[in-house]
Amino acid sequence: MAGSCTGSFKAADLVIQLSSSPKIKPDVVDFGTVFTDHMLTVEWNANEGWQAPLIRAFRNLSLHPACSALHYGVQLFEGLMVYRGDDNRLRLFRPILNMNRMANSAERACLPAFDQSELLECIRRLIDIDQDWVPHSDSASLYIRPTFISTEPSLGVKKPTSALLYVILCQAGSYFNTEMRVLSLWADPKYTRAWKGGTGDCKMGGNYGGTLFAQYEAASYGCQQVLWLYGEDHQITEAGTMNIFLHWINDDGDEELATPPLDGIILPGITRQSILDLTKKWDEFKVSERYLTMGQLYSALKQQRLKEMFGSGTACSICPVGSIVYQGTNLQLPYQEKHSLSSRITTELADIQHGRSPSDWTYLV
Ligand code: PMP
Repeated sequence: MAGSCTGSFKAADLVIQLSSSPKIKPDVVDFGTVFTDHMLTVEWNANEGWQAPLIRAFRNLSLHPACSALHYGVQLFEGLMVYRGDDNRLRLFRPILNMNRMANSAERACLPAFDQSELLECIRRLIDIDQDWVPHSDSASLYIRPTFISTEPSLGVKKPTSALLYVILCQAGSYFNTEMRVLSLWADPKYTRAWKGGTGDCKMGGNYGGTLFAQYEAASYGCQQVLWLYGEDHQITEAGTMNIFLHWINDDGDEELATPPLDGIILPGITRQSILDLTKKWDEFKVSERYLTMGQLYSALKQQRLKEMFGSGTACSICPVGSIVYQGTNLQLPYQEKHSLSSRITTELADIQHGRSPSDWTYLV
């Protein structure tokens, strides 16, 4: 957990400059391509600290070419959604967990601390201003991308003396194409997403840019995502940008829902946490954070002990895994469209996010 914050910007100081030329909202868009009319920016420098937050028309940034976010990846980001409920009200889903994760990433990136609830209130105001952009749909929502970059204008590899926190919003349909809802994965231990002592548990851009090459190799095998393995025993860690879960009869014969533990190489997903919290509350089977290897998965599959494997993340919610290309074999995994654990969790989460099930996990805009 990031340290407490000695100075922060305050939502009460927000300056709002509304756009004079609102855009036409398109009907259908690709994820992350069309942004709303406004953005939030908050500047920081080592001499004066945080400046007043500003909501202004969406616009390009102007950066010094030596800016250390560009050279050394001194930056981080977050991702969360705002959902329009059946009652037409707008809800965020456990946003304080995103704020906490952002503060942890900031500490690791040597970027300045801020008050998480003040940022959340600024984001709430931004969404309120651009509320017409939140789709009237169960399958689409508005994606919020908080970003925090060093704007240090010099080439030394050092703690930044200036930084910019900004938040942009874009419409989001389904992250994965609907026909591709069942994921195909490619697992090869020659690539590693994260390692002990590294930054894999933070949402820093370098963790993502560095995975593109492997992602394209996965595509060359006809797979949609990489299943990231770790260590000599080929531990299963994450799939693409999702946490991973196995629902199986484990080696001891117990029904179990298992996901790898947060040991530094796993991103602490909000969806992951919510699945653990929900299923523990049901108290119907064992729920564990434990190491899982490809060997265990393979044996469970051969012995018909594997019920389902699925990925979890804000953008896709829950995504079942249909197949894994591993050591020259295309493993076919069991999956049922209805009455599966993944479909039950998907429905429960969607009901909370859209206000159909009352929950203190939602935060009204
Ligand atoms: N793992 C990685 C590497 C991710 O980028 C994400 C997306 N933030 C996740 C897991 C899922 O996290 P969340 O449920 O918070 O979206």
